[in-house]
Parts: sequence; C-alpha cells; structure tokens
Amino acid sequence: MATIKQEDFISSIADALQYISYYHPLDYIQALGEAYHREASPAARDAIAQILTNSRMSAEGRRPICQDTGIVVAFVRVGMEVRWETKGLGVSDMVNEGVRRAYSNPDNILRASIMEDPAGTRRNTRDNTPAVIHYEIVPGDKVEITLAAKGGGSENKSKFVILNPSDSLVDWVLKTVPTMGAGWCPPGILGIGIGGTAEKAMLLAKEALMEPVNMHELLAKGPHNRVEELRLELYEKVNALGIGAQGLGGLTTVVDVKIRDYPTHAAGLPVGMIPNCAATRHIHFTLDGSGPAVLVPPDLDAWPKVDWQPSPDARRVNLDTITREDVVTWKPGEALLLSGKLLTGRDAAHKRIADLFARGEGLPPGVDFTNRFIYYVGPVDPVRDEVVGPAGPTTATRMDKFTDMMLDKTGLIGMIGKAERGPQAIESIRKHKAVYLMAVGGAAYLVAKAVRSAKVIAFEEMGMEAIYEFVVQDMPVTVAVDAEGTSVHETGPAEWRGRIGKIPVVAG
Ligand code: SF4
Repeated sequence: MATIKQEDFISSIADALQYISYYHPLDYIQALGEAYHREASPAARDAIAQILTNSRMSAEGRRPICQDTGIVVAFVRVGMEVRWETKGLGVSDMVNEGVRRAYSNPDNILRASIMEDPAGTRRNTRDNTPAVIHYEIVPGDKVEITLAAKGGGSENKSKFVILNPSDSLVDWVLKTVPTMGAGWCPPGILGIGIGGTAEKAMLLAKEALMEPVNMHELLAKGPHNRVEELRLELYEKVNALGIGAQGLGGLTTVVDVKIRDYPTHAAGLPVGMIPNCAATRHIHFTLDGSGPAVLVPPDLDAWPKVDWQPSPDARRVNLDTITREDVVTWKPGEALLLSGKLLTGRDAAHKRIADLFARGEGLPPGVDFTNRFIYYVGPVDPVRDEVVGPAGPTTATRMDKFTDMMLDKTGLIGMIGKAERGPQAIESIRKHKAVYLMAVGGAAYLVAKAVRSAKVIAFEEMGMEAIYEFVVQDMPVTVAVDAEGTSVHETGPAEWRGRIGKIPVVAG
C-alpha cells in the first residue's frame, strides 16, 4: 500500500506548474516546427517563427511562455489502495496549496488571473487559486495527476451543442471553428468530446486535450477506427478553412484534433469542443509513495531550429512623433517595428475609463492618449533584472465595445492586441482614420524583450490590469485593420481558403 505524504503531493503540484509555465510539451513544439516548414503564407510563417523562438527563450530563461499563465485544471486519479499522510488537508486543499506555491515562486512569479465572485465584484484571488479539479477513483495504489494551465483566450472559445443523432458533426465543427476567430491563438489543438451528457461531453473535450499530439503518426499509419477517421477528416478540413496562425490566413490552424467519445442517449448527440492555444501547457505524473514527482527538463536540442528575426522590410515607427496622417499610409498586413512610448490597458481599465466619462469626469491624472497607441496587455510581474515579465497581447475583440469611446474621446490613434476586431470596432477605426495592430499571441516573452521601461501611471490597485506606460524598442507588430477598415483577419483566411481550394469560399 503506497502512502502519499502531504508535502510530496504539494511540492509535486507546485513544481509541475512551474515546469509547464516555461516548457512547452515537446510533441506540440515539434508539430509546430513541422508546420513552420510547411507554411506557405509569409504572415503565418512569421507568426509561427515568433511562437517557436519565444518557446525556446522561455525554456532557456525559465520564464512563462505567455503572460496569461492560465487557470489550473487538475485531473486526479486516486488508487483505491492509496493511504494519505496529511496534516488535516483534503486533496483539493493540497492541490490549491501547490497552485499557490507555484504562482508565487519568486524565481518565476506567475500571473494570478483568477477572479472570485465572477458575476459580481470579480476580485482577484491573488494566488491563482482555486484550481478546477476532477477526480476519479481507480483500482491500484498510485495517484496519477494530469495538470494543465489553460489560457483564458482559448478557453473563452469553447463550444457546446446537442446535435440531432442524424446531424453531421463535421458540418457543425466546420461551421463553428470560423466563429471562434483568432482569440484562441492558433495554431493549436482541438479537443472534441462526443456523447454522454452535456457536462460529460465538455469534460471529454478537455481530457482529449491532455493526450499527446500524434497526428503525424496517424497520417502515416492511417485510421483504424471511426474516431481516428473522424480525427483525420477534421484535421484536414479544419486546416482547409485557411484560418492559419493567429488567424492571418495559412495552411496550419490545428496541429492535431483529439477526440474522446462515450455512449449517449438515443435522443441526442452532445458535442463539446475546446481549443488549446499556442501556449498549450500540460503535464502528467504519478505518485507512488516514494517521494515527490521527478520532472526531468526536456532536451532543448529537440526544439525546432528556428530563430525569428524582424523582417528587413519592416517599417520602423517612432511612436513619439507619430500622427494620424502617418497611420493612414500603413497597409494591411504590413510589418512594423514600434519604438517609443505606448500606454497599456485591458478590460478593467477600459471599464473604469468608461465609468469616468459616464460621470462627466476626465482621464486620471497623467494619462493622455493623444496621438498614442494603447496596448491590450496584462503583463506578468518582473523578476530579477527584468523591466516587465512576459507581456504578450490579449484578445482585442473584448475591447470592441469601448473602441468608439476611446477613439472619439481620448485622441487615441491606434490599438495593439491579438485576434480580429468585430464589425462595430472596424467601422469605428475607419470613421476615425485610426489603425489596429496585432502582436503574436503566445510570443509574450519575446515581445517583452522589446519593452525597455515600464511604469504604472493609473489604476495601480488593479494589478496587471493597471495602465502602464511602456517604452518599447523595435516591438514587432502587423497592421491588422488599416485606416480604411480592411481587416487581415477577413482577407487572409479568405485568400488561403481559396488557395487551399478544398472548401468553397463563401462570399461575405
Ligand atoms: S497563447 Fe493566446 S490564448 Fe493561449 S494563453 Fe496565451 S494569450 Fe491566451
């Protein structure tokens, strides 16, 4: 009979969460390396190169792959013969203590993103607890744990449907994936759960994402059952949608499609679909009573040999002298390197600004957006000599409802984020002759290297959601919506879907 000690359990959880914050799973990163070599779309190839370079830098620097260090999901399979030696803590308490320890580790502090009272005050719990924990009681005398740190951008794009038994699951997936936009930071993985009940289908989808990326093996050996046939069909057809890396249009949107199924009621076909992003993070380990989990660092020589460098054709932009007349000359898809001052702000800061204006008040002292850009980011706190921790873009679409207010009332001339903008924001950008630029989601450590100084200038109490002033040097971005309102997230996928030519391009 194995005895699992409290400290072994907690330290294993903490070490594993630290590990996955900076080490991508090798199977994902190698599949992405293959996608890089296959990619024919220059914009998508550049984005993949940034993600791969960022991944290696994170592994070497032992700092987070992405500024969103995720919500912790734990799958705990407890052997029925296991004995626990604890000091009054339950297993969930021990998981959460591991999370607390991992996210406050001073050598690699991780971003706390969890809000209690989610439909009310939304207070940050400050230590990223609690985790979402799933248990299974199984035969044996071991405890098997799978941990994931799931990014909000990809989790937000989860979908669920109960189809009729005779409906086509493939049609539903192909209709639904384009509605997910690029906020889930592709190229990634789709986890699909089929059957059971509503909650079971979603759980199957999440569990499927914990499996290894092995599409290349399936492509080589061919399918041996219905689920494998479906995986292959969806892999090919989802990629034929042409969405591509970061939604810029390209050959690879998913590196794998994982499916789990379960018997279901005769009356329906529940389907859950959850994407995993460029910051795919999960790990599996077993405790057998012999001590904490031993996590061996991966061999960095196994990382794809890709070293992203800014394009020599990129336009260099001085943010300190830029005017509206300059930004109207920028072309959709153009690569820029930004230098100078920009301000940051994301969901909570926009809401606070909207509330100030609604009360007839102005911006907080020291905040002036005139002829400035706002960067949608919630950075990780710095450690050691860092100016700022990993600081990649957050999903711009969430700021759409504030865009007209910001462009109309603050003198702002542009925004930087990730993923597409909706019709309302695009119309506002066109009307104000502004511009929207995108940075690569999942390249947060690389982007942070462009930040030369960072200081909080308003809303300090909101932590990572405060308004910062960044001084950047050669920060790489792409023009995603130009001053005419042309969006590369519309033109890119339509072009590549047409080029791939397996699914008809639907106008509009
Ligand atoms: S890669 Fe994108 S979706 Fe994933 S955690 Fe980072 S910002 Fe969020």
